[in-house]
Amino acid sequence: MSVTEVKDKNSSGNKSSEKLLEVKNLKTYYPVKGGFLRKVIGMVKAVDDISFEINKGETLGLVGESGCGKSTAGRTLLRLLKPTDGTILFDGKDITKIGGSTLRNIRKDIQMVFQDPYASLNPTQMVGDIVSEPIRNFTNKSKAELKDEVMELLGKVGLPEDAYYKYAHEFSGGQRQRIGIARALALRPKLIIADEPVSALDVSVQSQVLNLLRELQDEFGLTYLFIAHDLSVVKHMSDRIGVMYLGNLVEIADKKSIYDDPLHPYTKALISAIPEPDPRKKKERIVLEGDVPSPINPPSGCPFHPRCPVAMPECSQVKPALREVKPGQRVACHLYN
Ligand code: SF4
Repeated sequence: MSVTEVKDKNSSGNKSSEKLLEVKNLKTYYPVKGGFLRKVIGMVKAVDDISFEINKGETLGLVGESGCGKSTAGRTLLRLLKPTDGTILFDGKDITKIGGSTLRNIRKDIQMVFQDPYASLNPTQMVGDIVSEPIRNFTNKSKAELKDEVMELLGKVGLPEDAYYKYAHEFSGGQRQRIGIARALALRPKLIIADEPVSALDVSVQSQVLNLLRELQDEFGLTYLFIAHDLSVVKHMSDRIGVMYLGNLVEIADKKSIYDDPLHPYTKALISAIPEPDPRKKKERIVLEGDVPSPINPPSGCPFHPRCPVAMPECSQVKPALREVKPGQRVACHLYN
């Protein structure tokens, strides 16, 4: 089974127009230390002023090359990282600066599925304990109730009942990711942030895990932020897609617009690199020159200007804002001013 065997997300689904997550001008910077005294000598601008929203029941795909800030953005939203600036509104509540029990309670509603299922599972615990841990932490359910609930979850993610008594190392990569998904589902979250959830898996099992995520979304009315570098995976999973480059969101639109009519030169280059399955269709590939610059010292003006094939003089001077160019399609590029 290949990724192309994942059914494209039906854009009707359980979506509503009610916002579940609103991110405004979010920045996450890391200090860079150097010298004998380990003084702060600079900042890595991992996420540099991004704004977007996700409606209830929707999947927003976040794509970009490795190091573009998409995973940092996901971890900041879950408040595993402290935002440097900006606002995160979740279900109408400002969670940007919360801590202690308020943050702990929010984590019931926002869960993460990680890239490496093995590294995220405790090797000394049986699967039953791994999956029941969040429920034990947040409820006073009896052992019998916990076991029933975990058994049900294992069934939902397609694992056999005897998985309960096994350890993570006894499972294949795809099955381990199912364990991670069962644990993420245990508290019936509203939002799941899936960070490259299939990129560590064999291609043969990627589709199965993606289809499972889709089925669970329909069954539980979940909202996803789906982070991946693979555009074909994101296409199958998403309603809308945001494209990141060097910590910036450069384009965001519905899936069809991103794939059929990308506007930002970086999005165009990414889309042109997707292999065309039909050999009769000719596709011109846009090859970008140079490497992604360092986020410690990003270029002035448009962060993409040193590699942009259509850069203009003003591009190195003025940073373009993300603006709505067509209904629902926002782009950060001076070409559309
Ligand atoms: Fe290219 Fe200029 Fe647009 Fe940046 S603003 S993507 S450099 S044309």
